[in-house]
Amino acid sequence: MLSRKFINKIYYKIRPAIPRNIQIWMRRWLIRRQRLHHINEWPILQSAAVVPAGWQGWPDNKRFAFIITHDVELSGGHDKCRQLSRIELELGFKSSFNFVPLRYKVSKELRDYLTSNGFEIGVQGLLHDGKLFQSRKIFDERAQKINEFLRDWDAVGFRSPSMHHNLEWMHDLSILYDSSTFDTDPFEPQADGVGTIFPFWVKNASVDRGYIELPYTLPQDFTLFILLKEKTIDIWKNKLDWIVENGGMALINVHPDYVNFNSSKQKGEEFPIELYVELLKYIKDKYSGQYWHSLPKEAAKFSKDFFCKKLNTVL
Ligand SMILES: [Zn+2]
Repeated sequence: MLSRKFINKIYYKIRPAIPRNIQIWMRRWLIRRQRLHHINEWPILQSAAVVPAGWQGWPDNKRFAFIITHDVELSGGHDKCRQLSRIELELGFKSSFNFVPLRYKVSKELRDYLTSNGFEIGVQGLLHDGKLFQSRKIFDERAQKINEFLRDWDAVGFRSPSMHHNLEWMHDLSILYDSSTFDTDPFEPQADGVGTIFPFWVKNASVDRGYIELPYTLPQDFTLFILLKEKTIDIWKNKLDWIVENGGMALINVHPDYVNFNSSKQKGEEFPIELYVELLKYIKDKYSGQYWHSLPKEAAKFSKDFFCKKLNTVL
């Protein structure tokens, strides 16, 4: 029998030539096959609950941190950001929106609207063509451009398309934090989870430099609703409860592209907004007053202060 790793490798190599609906069909087939093998590591990897040495908890003694991020894939998603942000605001939440600078037109008006309403803007790769980490040369060239967008957009956070990552190379990005990893997600193209539900410091050779890594810890909407065709948010709720029990960071990535606001016209790669709203209400009702809800950049700042203080005392 062909190994899962091998099938994955071949699949991602030939993917660009495959029509989108066939891609989805193949990924569904793959994930159904893989899921059984990963029952002990997904959605919960028990060892990911280990608390970082010296960890003193979240601000204001909150039990856990809750952070919302959005990866905006195409112009269709771009055009849904306002509506999504309004729903979050109404429920008392805020989030970051990661735009791909050169894949579609990113409206300055939208960015301004979001930041002036307390949301954060991040940079998601550059082109979203799967090649960012293909060679050091490609990465170096693109890193320069990414840094320009970070500066122009006044952004401090990065998210890599398809969660491809090379934490060593990413020191060349002018970032406070990256969020291209996950505690556990065996269904990702680069499936090496970082195995923690806490932020961590990615140290450069020189101790004073580095960045914070904020892994996502709740499964992606696409995985749950498009690939696994889940009809409920039970997996989100169970994982969240477990993160709370362990005092970790619940970090989610919801794609505006896949959110459907109008049930009568739902497309194949969409899920009803009600499912996401249900999660926000669940957190709000069940854990009222118990969570530190922050933007990723705030969580990164807090974590950086903690890890730098720790490094200094060690030195
Ligand atoms: Zn993406």
